[in-house]
Amino acid sequence: MGAFLCLLLLAGANIFLLQSLLRDFHAMAATVNVAGKLRILSQKIAVETMSLSVEQGSGVAEIERSMRTFDVVLQALIHGGTVFGIDIQKLRPPHDELLKTLELNWGGYRQGVQKALAILALPASGTAEKTATHQWVGGDAARMLGHTEALIDSIVDEHQAAQRQVMTALYALLFVDALILLLGFVARQAFNGWTQRLANLIVRIKRDKQNLKQAKADFRMASLVYQNSSEAMVVTDPEGVIVNVNPAFSAITGYSANEALGAKLSILHSGRHDAAFYQAMWQSLLATGKWEGEIWNRSKDGREYVERIVINTSYNDDGSVQCRIGLFSDVTQKIQSEALIWRQAHYDHLTGVPNRKLFQDRLDGAIARSSLSRGRMALVLLDLDFFKEVNDTMGHGMGDELLKEVAARLGKCVRATDTVARLGGDEFTLILEEVEDTEVVERLCRDILQALAQPYQLAEDVASISTSMGVSFYPDDGRTAQELLTNVDLAMYAAKERGRNQFCCFTPQMRQTADKRRRLLRDLVNALREGQFVLHYQPIVELSTGYIRKAEALIRWNHPELGLVGPVDFIPFAEDAGIIVKIGDWAFREAARQAALWRKSYCNDFQISVNVSPAQFMAGGLSDTEWLGHLKALDLTGDSIVVEITEGLLMDATAQVSRNLLAFRDAGIQVALDDFGTGYSSLSYLKKFNIDYIKIDRSFVCNLAPGTGDIALCEAIIVMAHRLGLKVIAEGVETVEQRNLLMQAGCDYGQGHLFSAPVDAESFSTFLVTSA
Ligand code: C2E
Ligand code: MG
Ligand code: MG
Repeated sequence: MGAFLCLLLLAGANIFLLQSLLRDFHAMAATVNVAGKLRILSQKIAVETMSLSVEQGSGVAEIERSMRTFDVVLQALIHGGTVFGIDIQKLRPPHDELLKTLELNWGGYRQGVQKALAILALPASGTAEKTATHQWVGGDAARMLGHTEALIDSIVDEHQAAQRQVMTALYALLFVDALILLLGFVARQAFNGWTQRLANLIVRIKRDKQNLKQAKADFRMASLVYQNSSEAMVVTDPEGVIVNVNPAFSAITGYSANEALGAKLSILHSGRHDAAFYQAMWQSLLATGKWEGEIWNRSKDGREYVERIVINTSYNDDGSVQCRIGLFSDVTQKIQSEALIWRQAHYDHLTGVPNRKLFQDRLDGAIARSSLSRGRMALVLLDLDFFKEVNDTMGHGMGDELLKEVAARLGKCVRATDTVARLGGDEFTLILEEVEDTEVVERLCRDILQALAQPYQLAEDVASISTSMGVSFYPDDGRTAQELLTNVDLAMYAAKERGRNQFCCFTPQMRQTADKRRRLLRDLVNALREGQFVLHYQPIVELSTGYIRKAEALIRWNHPELGLVGPVDFIPFAEDAGIIVKIGDWAFREAARQAALWRKSYCNDFQISVNVSPAQFMAGGLSDTEWLGHLKALDLTGDSIVVEITEGLLMDATAQVSRNLLAFRDAGIQVALDDFGTGYSSLSYLKKFNIDYIKIDRSFVCNLAPGTGDIALCEAIIVMAHRLGLKVIAEGVETVEQRNLLMQAGCDYGQGHLFSAPVDAESFSTFLVTSA
């Protein structure tokens, strides 16, 4: 825009200059024109004068008019004016001489012409006289011509000079224009650069202004923060003398700004940290200028508190310390609640001993220490036997009290350096470090068994409980926590399996058994589909007659690689894995099918007992209607089957269990209570659930001898059962003496190797025929 305006201005100036030049030029051209007319007039006057005749008197007026015109033109040239409609300017001084000469000559010429006119106008004038007049008029005219031409030449010269001047002026103008344009361009470039620099400068100034404003705002803000921050701030000189504090400092430490300024930071020392602590802090400050951590300090009123502080150093240009700035807050409460949270997270809230998490940490630590010292350590796992029953019978509150007491007794049995931890429920562990001698651990286990077996006074009640314990040693039984834990678990289960209330040290054999079990569990899933189960039958003999009218169906697993696997080895897994429902269904149907066959071929009141696991009832998977439907389909009555259940099922009987048992009774299916004597042996349950048979557990029968407690027990059971209208079957009868004693005691039926071990259906058929 600026450039455009400049160009417009330049073009205007050019036009103005050209116009003024041309104006002079035109004026000159007009002067030449008028001067030319002057020459023509002078010649015209001469010609007209010479051609004048008497008859032509009118021509005189014309000549006089021409002369007056000449006068006017001459005056115009001398003084300037308008002639022939042309504006002319007074001739310039260089022409003055010629003009004066012309004017003089013109005067003479005029008089000559007037005289000639007078002569020529006279009729009397002779030819000679006229010729003479013509001659001097002609002579004067020729002179006039010379003067006018000299004037014209002079004016033309001036005109040409002016023309040259105009040309020169035009070139000069062109040059000036080019110069102006060039200067303009250069100026523009320079201007651009300059404006850019100016713009940058303005931006910088603006920015600086903004920064300054921001800095002021920041400063105000920082000052506000400093004053109002809940975080305490303290500034010290390099020697640790306080030079500035904020209100939060006073709030935490109790020292006002006046009291603090000039004092050393050591006024806050609580004495909790030793010299080494402060040395380490100063070392860090001197090396890096920074330190952060937690310090116990003491406020003015003597209160000890923990502050979390960050110290930074500000340096002078020469690298020397200008000041140190400390920012801190009181974290006493936070630390206390963290400690509480840590305790809650690591200690068992009931017993106060370490929980599983802390146990894990301690076990890792103990392993690391034993590994370093090449020492030996023991891990003991304890599980209270039948603790669930304490909970069930005495209530959870009492159960909790018992657990507390167990933890306390355990604490008394071990050394202060050992760890007693509760993993959950009724499971406790001990970590015993530096135990070179296995005997020491075994002795401790025996002491613990004894200590825990002592009666527990729980409010009004007294409870007793036993414990099963497993032991594994580092590094003998495992080098990692996981290995030790797995193995101690196996050892504990071995103790349970061996009859509880004892401890077992881990042996590799236990692992093999566990591996075998794992493998069985894996294969069990396909066993039913592959038809690998088979039922064996064991006769139940009527002792008074020796008749065999009953048999117990006992399942076996025909494992493709391991051969015949007994139920004890797989039923518990099947129960845990939930496969027991399908296996139990199969066993029932298979037993019923066999009962139908033997009823047809052997005797029509033959009965087969089928073992039913509590897990089958509990899972709700036992469909009595389907079972009864199956019997019906085989054309069997309910009394062809006896269902064997255990006491545990009756203890935890749900409404569903009661319904199932009721449905069996209604259909004529009898119920036998298996392994009687090993559980609660509750008489009330016998009546409540309409039990038909009691099966005295093998453990009572195997040691039967006259005068022993076992025979007394068997006799008592038999009497009681008969009173209640129940029949008694003795399990595990192996000897004639046992049979005789049982018979004497009035036992109804006997089952055991004395008569026959469990055998497959075919062998059992043969047995029936031969023993009939
Ligand atoms: P149980 O019902 O008490 O069966 C009696 C167990 O004692 C059988 O062991 C039998 O072989 C064994 N036995 C019988 N007479 C004698 C003897 O004179 N001496 C010795 N030492 N043992 C004798 P088995 O067959 O190993 O069965 C063990 C347990 O497995 C059974 O105990 C029963 O609770 C369970 N069981 C067996 N079959 C099934 C089944 O089909 N389903 C369910 N849920 N459990 C079953
Ligand atoms: Mg049984
Ligand atoms: Mg039994």
